[in-house]
Amino acid sequence: MTPTQDSPRVGVYVCHCGTNIAGMVDVEAVTEYASTLGNVAVARHYAYMCSDPGQALIKDDIHNAGLNRVVVASCSPLMHETTFRRACGEAGLNPFLFQMTNIREQCSWVSEDPGKATEKAKMLVSAAVSRVAWHAPLEMRQVAVKPSALVLGAGIAGIEAALRLADSGKHVYLVEREPSIGGHMSRLYKTFPTLDCAA
Ligand SMILES: Cc1cc2nc3c(=O)[nH]c(=O)nc-3n(C[C@H](O)[C@H](O)[C@H](O)COP(=O)(O)OP(=O)(O)OC[C@H]3O[C@@H](n4cnc5c(N)ncnc54)[C@H](O)[C@@H]3O)c2cc1C
Repeated sequence: MTPTQDSPRVGVYVCHCGTNIAGMVDVEAVTEYASTLGNVAVARHYAYMCSDPGQALIKDDIHNAGLNRVVVASCSPLMHETTFRRACGEAGLNPFLFQMTNIREQCSWVSEDPGKATEKAKMLVSAAVSRVAWHAPLEMRQVAVKPSALVLGAGIAGIEAALRLADSGKHVYLVEREPSIGGHMSRLYKTFPTLDCAA
């Protein structure tokens, strides 16, 4: 197999996250290393990639350097994957031709040795650059969903789950194989530690 469609032109963006990353990882060395990797057309580092000026760097390079893939080495994708995908989309690049790699939670924050942290960050960036070459453009679509849920088992856990789902507006089907609900709790008189009447 070969990487998808066009020849990849990858932009790599290494975030300092203030001192969160740059206090442990040599971001300049990581950027320099990234610039030597195959398919990499542009490599930059910046104080806060998630900021508006940081995102503008990416957008400008998509336009001016003809990037068709983007890698950001920064924090957890849980934090800012959506941010960077949106930035790519706003610059006309399919948002899924983007790869994030986490050099904060999974590198700088859990390292005590700057040299080793920097080497690990290089490896993470290298893996992301290799991976993004295989990405294919995806299209988002919306499908209608039925806002209902099925909960199997009406012990205390199933009852609680059913109530929470119902409170969030879902229609809930609660299925119990026994003639009555309550599970183990319904057989207990008083329960530890509150001595509440379980039933
Ligand atoms: C003797 C004893 C004393 C305890 N004392 C305490 C205490 O003092 N304080 C405390 O906090 N906890 C106590 N516990 C623990 C507590 O009772 C359980 O943690 C709790 O009841 C577990 O609830 P549950 O909903 O996860 O499971 P369960 O109560 O086991 O409920 C599971 C339900 O799912 C149903 N079910 C299973 N399979 C299916 C299926 N295929 N289709 C449909 N229905 C299905 C079962 O019939 C049951 O009603 C005690 C437990 C025991 C046994």
